[in-house]
Amino acid sequence: MSAIDGLPPLRDVIRDHDLAAKRSLGQNFLLDLNLTAKIARSAGPLDGVTVIEVGPGPGGLTRALLSLGAAHVIAVERDSRCLPALAQIAAHYPGRLTVAPGDALQADWPALLRQVHGDAPARVRIVANLPYNIGTVLLTRWIETEPWPPFFESMTLMFQREVAERIVATPDDPKDYGRLGVLCGWRTEARILFDVPPSAFTPPPKIMSSVVSLSPRSRPLACDAATLSAVTAAAFGQRRKMLRQSLKSLQADPAPLIQAAGLDPTARAETVPVEGFVALAQAWRPQG
Ligand code: SAM
Repeated sequence: MSAIDGLPPLRDVIRDHDLAAKRSLGQNFLLDLNLTAKIARSAGPLDGVTVIEVGPGPGGLTRALLSLGAAHVIAVERDSRCLPALAQIAAHYPGRLTVAPGDALQADWPALLRQVHGDAPARVRIVANLPYNIGTVLLTRWIETEPWPPFFESMTLMFQREVAERIVATPDDPKDYGRLGVLCGWRTEARILFDVPPSAFTPPPKIMSSVVSLSPRSRPLACDAATLSAVTAAAFGQRRKMLRQSLKSLQADPAPLIQAAGLDPTARAETVPVEGFVALAQAWRPQG
């Protein structure tokens, strides 16, 4: 990267800013420049695009996004030790990098976008090598965004391989299919783009990682996210039981609900496609 953008090599950045990785912050840094460029490229052409990045760390992916033409990067980083390194990148790309120090779980994304673009419309994509400990929470929130279609065009995100498999799972993958797969399948088209081995990170994690692409469906089946969540919690809470048993936690006699949704009462959650859960969510009226 130093050859491409004239900034110091990432190993030097980490040494100079004393950025020894902290496990508590899910810090596994990517120093392989080919890989950061590959991830940035897999988000598609970036001209005219504002990228939201969570956890830039020493800035490897941030630099790739900027050097590949992102109009602007808004990067939310919790570790204040990284801020001087990120300030160097911001100075190198004047007016194109906004660093928001703080916890991404507390971030107000529309407010951050307004800070950069005012009320002008912006093309936004989310690209991140997420800290593993908050990855699924962030993803769930982004997918439950209202209104829909959401403020972003796409998400290109790194997860642990096992989480990536749950994100893209369907009833054809009963071992991995669960609440996350239903949520992601309802509102997005999700696919695994490629795997990233532990050796690509510093320090190397114990497990394989994968980059996942999620494209919002413009017209997902009509359904309330909270209701869908309640229905899948009940069904997958007892995933080995038949729906006529597992859905008793929703209502004492779930038979009419299952019938209204057009489902087989003897089916198990892991065999019910997304459309079936949406039908259940549409039919369920909380009682009491
Ligand atoms: N993007 C860098 C890379 O690819 O080398 C670092 C990725 S590392 C897996 C995760 C990053 O997220 C770290 O920089 C960590 O400090 C940051 N982070 C952890 N928890 C965070 C939080 N709640 N909000 C914002 N950033 C967080």
